[in-house]
Amino acid sequence: MARAHSTAGSNLGFSGYDLDLDKAIDLIQKSGARLVGLQAPEGLKRATPDLARHIEEKTGARVIISGDPCFGACDVDMQLCQEVDLMLHLGHARLTEGPDNVIFLEVRMKEDLRDVVEKAAMVLKARRVGVTTTIQHVHKLDQALEALKKHGIQGLLGQAGGRVRQAGQVLGCSYSTARALDVEEYLFIGTGQFHPLGIALATGKRVVIADPATGEISEIDTDPMLRRRFGAITRAREAKRFAILVSKKPGQKRMELAARLKALGESRGREMFLVYLDNIEPDRLLNLGAEAAVSTACPRVALDDAAKYRIPILTPPEFEVLLGEREWEEYEFDEIE
Ligand code: SF4
Repeated sequence: MARAHSTAGSNLGFSGYDLDLDKAIDLIQKSGARLVGLQAPEGLKRATPDLARHIEEKTGARVIISGDPCFGACDVDMQLCQEVDLMLHLGHARLTEGPDNVIFLEVRMKEDLRDVVEKAAMVLKARRVGVTTTIQHVHKLDQALEALKKHGIQGLLGQAGGRVRQAGQVLGCSYSTARALDVEEYLFIGTGQFHPLGIALATGKRVVIADPATGEISEIDTDPMLRRRFGAITRAREAKRFAILVSKKPGQKRMELAARLKALGESRGREMFLVYLDNIEPDRLLNLGAEAAVSTACPRVALDDAAKYRIPILTPPEFEVLLGEREWEEYEFDEIE
């Protein structure tokens, strides 16, 4: 099937990405869907009105765009799903089983990885290196392995499994592909600090970042984040009343874990209550009177957004440190199975 790469993609505001529009149109036509939902993360949302118009013209189906925030494949708009015949979820790979009428359409970056990986090879110390990336670059990992080989480095990809769909792929909440490898060093290809921090904390190994967007190479330092997390646990020690946050999002909902943490906190004399939310935002916690919270939702809530909250927000392993169930030295990054 032909791919609607640069031409259709750029006309619709997807320049810089590959989006398989032909596949989407074909699937809509074959399904006979009359009402189609369209969901995209914030970075792609601007392109959705044009894409909706394009789909309507090509298929005759009516399109409705999900206006709520979308943080990942864990975050399918379930209400819209029930309203439509077929839902297109852009930018993420399917995590686990979900509603049958959702099609996950990956949006892949066009950037070539060779130059940036060759640059990274100059600062890598090991000769066997674990190679990791996010879904946007995973289709170009063969370029990365080739570039490393030119410099005498063997790049290894951890096998997919669980909620990770592609070899070498990492999610903000799952580093199983990195942990599966017996290597001394990792290369992360992508943008931002959160994923490489997760790899470094999940494996305890050195992580070099190659950013294909800027061409920059850097090395992750976990100390500032660990200092912040130690501070959050220390502040939460003073708290008596804890909210345990449970997400409504299908791929973030960990009700059993929340119930276990509630019982654990109560057994240590804390007042604990469960709070069920869709989007976890500071305002939602204001009137509950909690002095601290434990987020069982996406690990980014506690680790990335902590500064937005007036009260300390801990991850489940951090709450266990607070209660003396595990040692600080055994700090564990919160991952979702
Ligand atoms: S839980 Fe968080 S890190 Fe995991 S897929 Fe969802 S948004 Fe991404």
